[in-house]
Amino acid sequence: MSRMKPRTLFSLVLVVVVLAVAAYLMLRPGKPAAVKTGIQWPETPNVLLIGLDTVRADHVCNTEQSGVLTPHMEALARDGIRFERCISTAPWTLPSFASIFTGRMPYHHGAIGGDYQRLGEDQTTIAEYFDEAGYNTVGFMGVPYLTETYGMTQGYNADIGLPQQLQKIDRATSITSLSLEYLKRFHDKPFYMLTHYYDPHAPYTPPPPYDTIYYFDRDARAPGEPIVDTIMASHTLLDDSKQSGMYDWLEGVTDWGYPTAQYAAEVTYTDEHVGRLLTGLKEMGLYDDMLIVLTADHGEHLMDHNIFFTHYLPYQETIHVPLIIKLPGNRGAGRVIADPVSTLDILPTVLDVAGLDAPDDLEGHNLAAALLGRAEIGLRALLAEQGSAPDRFCKVLIEYPWKLMYFRERDEERYALYRLDSDPYERLDLSAHEPGILEELTTKFWTKFDRERPVTADGKAMPASLSEAEKRRLQTLGYVD
Ligand SMILES: [Zn+2]
Repeated sequence: MSRMKPRTLFSLVLVVVVLAVAAYLMLRPGKPAAVKTGIQWPETPNVLLIGLDTVRADHVCNTEQSGVLTPHMEALARDGIRFERCISTAPWTLPSFASIFTGRMPYHHGAIGGDYQRLGEDQTTIAEYFDEAGYNTVGFMGVPYLTETYGMTQGYNADIGLPQQLQKIDRATSITSLSLEYLKRFHDKPFYMLTHYYDPHAPYTPPPPYDTIYYFDRDARAPGEPIVDTIMASHTLLDDSKQSGMYDWLEGVTDWGYPTAQYAAEVTYTDEHVGRLLTGLKEMGLYDDMLIVLTADHGEHLMDHNIFFTHYLPYQETIHVPLIIKLPGNRGAGRVIADPVSTLDILPTVLDVAGLDAPDDLEGHNLAAALLGRAEIGLRALLAEQGSAPDRFCKVLIEYPWKLMYFRERDEERYALYRLDSDPYERLDLSAHEPGILEELTTKFWTKFDRERPVTADGKAMPASLSEAEKRRLQTLGYVD
């Protein structure tokens, strides 16, 4: 029996140690992994979340129907996967973005407005997952609801500060420039970046030449009945906004075509900036290997349901939002998926593609396998909600093609039932005609929400301390405390 040479012994020990370390790394305790797909993605891909504000799904990649030009988002969709039916969790900024960031319904993350304005420190945001994974994390955003005041910057570690661009006209310009400037200086390390475009939010004031692309050879203020008079007289739940400065910009306007044209122009203007941002990424050689997600927090009421130029109730015009996911290496490019999904699905999907573990209790589904056509998404109940007072709220359950809406207004409550495939803009309430469907969905609905505690699951108030400037800013945007 020959003795082993010291060098051979050393090699053997080394192999054993390496195997032991590998086994430990694979089996170590940590956050429980959510259903992972096991698909091999490039390691530590750079991640960009383009968060559009106030952009309806029917205004994006839909020029033939809507007449609205979005060539740059279409180009992104050709390199990625586009979801035709994505539902946001709420019809306004704070709860909806908090859901995108945390993968939880407003009912569970608790940032729902009213007495519950701050996202709690106990919530884990998308930026926190990437911060923990060693990424540079940064956000450029144009509205107070996405700032530290509201607990929404948890996880950002960039040492350049967080500029809050609050000028209306050049907002998208500044946000794009800041995003590109940041990447030029810091892209030597993996990054997660949020670029948030606020421009389509009212008032709709696109800069030239966008202000005349959909409205020309007409006079918005020709003699006639001012449309503000009709808006103010309309009977909706929108009492608060009637008192705000939200409609000042419409003073003297008599043509209903004017605000809708200018809203569309804001979307096209924002699309131009998405194009500028993506061109910058291509010039830096970053685009191809990146994971890019484009979505919106909510859409906009453009007159349907007697609600004008704001976003308030979770009808489809406010909760049907665009969703495009471009994978590293443009895998799955050009796929269009019709199965209904939620903005809750963004977080578990992004974490899987980035190779990061997600906790089991995220409320969304991991779409990674479906992006490559390796799995079906299937139908499931999708939820959306609005309201922070226990006696005044509206909640939605969608089990495609059916949509149940529950309205609570002080002591009155009512349900509405819509069939979205034949009636996508919810013009015909079928609740009196489909009692069986109504009962089935109502039963399901009340397994998702607690009648005794309808607005937040834990009921812990989280006021935000606003500066006077922030308060004024929110008031001019139509949000009243
Ligand atoms: Zn918003």
